[in-house]
Amino acid sequence: MEYLFPVSEIFESIQGEGNRAGLRCLFVRFQFCNLTCTWCDTKYTWLKESGSFKWYPPTELKSIIRQKGIKEVVFTGGEPTLFSLDQLVDPEFNYHVETNGTVIPTLPIEVQLPDGTMIKRGAMNKNIIERFNWVVSPKLSNSRQKINVDSLKYWAGRDFSTFKFICSNNADIQEVQQIADDYNIDKNRVYIGLEGISQKSQLKPAMVDKIVEQGFNFSPRLHILLWGATRKK
Ligand code: SF4
Repeated sequence: MEYLFPVSEIFESIQGEGNRAGLRCLFVRFQFCNLTCTWCDTKYTWLKESGSFKWYPPTELKSIIRQKGIKEVVFTGGEPTLFSLDQLVDPEFNYHVETNGTVIPTLPIEVQLPDGTMIKRGAMNKNIIERFNWVVSPKLSNSRQKINVDSLKYWAGRDFSTFKFICSNNADIQEVQQIADDYNIDKNRVYIGLEGISQKSQLKPAMVDKIVEQGFNFSPRLHILLWGATRKK
């Protein structure tokens, strides 16, 4: 049976956050996620009935991406590492992946989601995925999700990845500090953004002072500042 990718939406915008904030990109948002974070702003991607999506064979999805003609392509979700992203690569394009950090791409996976959907893929090709810009976003305790220790260790040891954490308060920043210490993550690889979906939530200079003081990078969340909680932005 041919391998298929479930795609929720494809749109053009700027990268709002992380190490490439401001970059003009094509976003490919995959359906399905292996987590259920309390403050998730894309709950429509969680399961089969959460929102509309379409299954694409790799050739068709690659051709759609190519036709858009935008060199920077962001795979997001949902959780994009549930799918064989290495099958979508075109040498002329650059790829960025936004992952929750609970999946090791070079290991095969087979998971059953709460609605019974089976997700299965083989190991991704190491040489291909190492050329991606990986933005790993482990969820803090405020998301009520468990950290996957093996996977976080894997990402901590990969210098082709950076980390992005979303914090609501100083206790969250301390939690990031603890994770950086526990997993030996260089703070230069860590970006911290502010939680919230209103413009006001993004304008907290005292928290940015704290982030910088602790030795981390600050990540703006430009899409929230510019468009609030608007979808496809
Ligand atoms: S990992 Fe991302 S998409 Fe999945 S539930 Fe959490 S915030 Fe939502």
